[in-house]
Amino acid sequence: MTRSTDLIHHPYQPPAEFEAPQVGVFKASTVIFPNVAAVRTREWMDKSAYTYGLHGTPTTFTLEARLATLEGGTHCILTPSGLAAIAHVDFALLKTGDEVLIPDNAYAPNKSLATGELAQFGITHQIYDPMDVDDVAARITPRTRLVWLEAAGSVTMEFPDLVALVKLCKTRGVLCALDNTWGAGLAFNAFDLTPGQGDLGVDLTIHALTKYPSGGGDVLMGSIVTRSDELARVLKLSHMRLGTGVGANDAEMVLRALASMPLRYQAQDQAARTLATWCCSQSAFSQVLHPALHNSPGHTHWRQLCVTPQVPEGLAAGIFSVVMDQRFTSAQVDAFCDALQLFKIGYSWGGPMSLVMPYHMKRGRVVRFCIGLEHVEDLQADILRALRAAHLQT
Ligand SMILES: *Cc1c(COP(=O)(O)O)cnc(C)c1O
Repeated sequence: MTRSTDLIHHPYQPPAEFEAPQVGVFKASTVIFPNVAAVRTREWMDKSAYTYGLHGTPTTFTLEARLATLEGGTHCILTPSGLAAIAHVDFALLKTGDEVLIPDNAYAPNKSLATGELAQFGITHQIYDPMDVDDVAARITPRTRLVWLEAAGSVTMEFPDLVALVKLCKTRGVLCALDNTWGAGLAFNAFDLTPGQGDLGVDLTIHALTKYPSGGGDVLMGSIVTRSDELARVLKLSHMRLGTGVGANDAEMVLRALASMPLRYQAQDQAARTLATWCCSQSAFSQVLHPALHNSPGHTHWRQLCVTPQVPEGLAAGIFSVVMDQRFTSAQVDAFCDALQLFKIGYSWGGPMSLVMPYHMKRGRVVRFCIGLEHVEDLQADILRALRAAHLQT
């Protein structure tokens, strides 16, 4: 069965005589035990039983099982946000004296956590160039415990050589964790990067369910997925101590939206590629950053992972950036963003509404577009109208 079918037909057991396609919303802090012996023997860590709402309900166990299947793993832990999933991994796996490596194009709060709380706990970090495997190799020392990976990079969209980076981490005995929000478990399988050529995969993924799995722009949630029983045990013990659970209504919203995620992902991918290709012909933009474009950084690595015989056109998230021509000032770029009417100014992506955000990067002034579910012709007209309104194009 394909993974999109698994998102709908998972072996969920409804209560007797209430067979319905949807999963029930189970809410409880207290779970009642039939007797004291059950208190002593029930085990939540392997999901064989229920003990307390924070440790799982039929609703959250089902969502966890579906997400693990989606990403190609075997264990899943839910967290209150994508960032909480990143923090959970750091707190569970790192101790004083350890070092963590983070790509320079990573989701920015991942780096802020390293300069903030991790530094306070005596955990150091280094920022590496994700497009230079030798740079990563040179930075690994006996203190390196964890390497964060992201494909494609937030904002600048470089697609790293994940296969080489994961091989390097395995050879050097360092754990690697992928922020899998962009690929969403659909564009490539993070736990099987070289299908048919032996087992090569990341040790764990985090996923901002806030984006594609929620799909509505109205839920904050994250997940951690792994295939390793040992890592799952460590992460679950931390989960018990940190106490970061998720609400049943939020879990229900994600379960409801998961079934349509592959279709939404594909639709937003197609619209983003149509727009990105059109943007290449606009003189206001000196470069368009989208890994499926031939001249975008890491295009060949994207092809290697995301183009398969089953999906010859490949898959990519519905998000891209443009580098603004150097002749424009910051005020002009801001005026362009302000002049957009359908693209709203805001963070996040994967929802129904298209979003825009300007950034100052090493490459120059970069504007990121996140494509929603509006008609692509309307979005293209909006960009053209805003370019003219801000006098960036005649
Ligand atoms: C949004 C995002 C996160 C964080 O998710 P939140 O649920 O907003 O905390 C992490 N990584 C990436 C790549 C993201 O886009």
